[in-house]
Amino acid sequence: MKLVLLGAPGAGKGTQAVRIAKNQGIPHISTGDIFRKNLKEETPVGLTAKAYLAKGQLVPDGVVVEIVRLRLLEDDCKNGFLLDGFPRTLAQAEALKAIAAPDAVINLDADLDALAKRLSGRRVCGGCGESYHVDLGSPEVCTKCGGAVIQREDDKAETVAARLLVYKAETAPLIDFYRAEGLLVNIDGMQDIDAVSAAIRQALRRL
Ligand code: ADP
Ligand code: AMP
Repeated sequence: MKLVLLGAPGAGKGTQAVRIAKNQGIPHISTGDIFRKNLKEETPVGLTAKAYLAKGQLVPDGVVVEIVRLRLLEDDCKNGFLLDGFPRTLAQAEALKAIAAPDAVINLDADLDALAKRLSGRRVCGGCGESYHVDLGSPEVCTKCGGAVIQREDDKAETVAARLLVYKAETAPLIDFYRAEGLLVNIDGMQDIDAVSAAIRQALRRL
């Protein structure tokens, strides 16, 4: 199945993506993770993306689309994929339609005012990217891989506000775009993590 996870920063995409990918046996492709890895390794893509990530702005469409296009050509995507954090603009959504049209788009619906708290309390594993939250007992060492658990640079308050504004202006319109395409599956992302997972599983069974 070719799936897209849509939602504001902090809506729970990464958290749910790990579970959905495991259940469905498809690769979890997070463009944010790809950029952070490139940044760490100081590749040309990482150097291009650096300033955008630091300011909470979007990396230009051409750069992101090419990365996704190449990633979707890889062998493990033959039976489907789960995109997390892509598309984020209408131009990216149109590009994806031409490359590999999704079968369904799961929108994690969240109260934008509550997301600043989720993001400022988020901690992630610097090794495998696993997501934790200080209110849910974030460890200092990742329980999955033993890596150091850190705060993302762009989860600091100033950048969080910018990212939520970018979401409203650029990404929220994709909800109507995918509704019109008949692909939208709306899920209440404000429930607890297990309840969100159960709702997604149920919705996917009905497809
Ligand atoms: P996204 O990938 O959409 O930016 P994450 O999955 O990283 O969001 O979640 C952001 C933060 O909120 C993390 O700290 C995560 O542990 C926490 N979180 C995710 N889903 C929920 C939920 N349903 N209820 C409360 N906290 C959540
Ligand atoms: P995320 O991990 O999804 O929150 O993404 C972190 C950052 O990576 C974003 O704030 C953007 O700067 C960049 N990014 C990730 N995905 C995209 C995308 N589809 N289009 C543009 N920029 C992106």
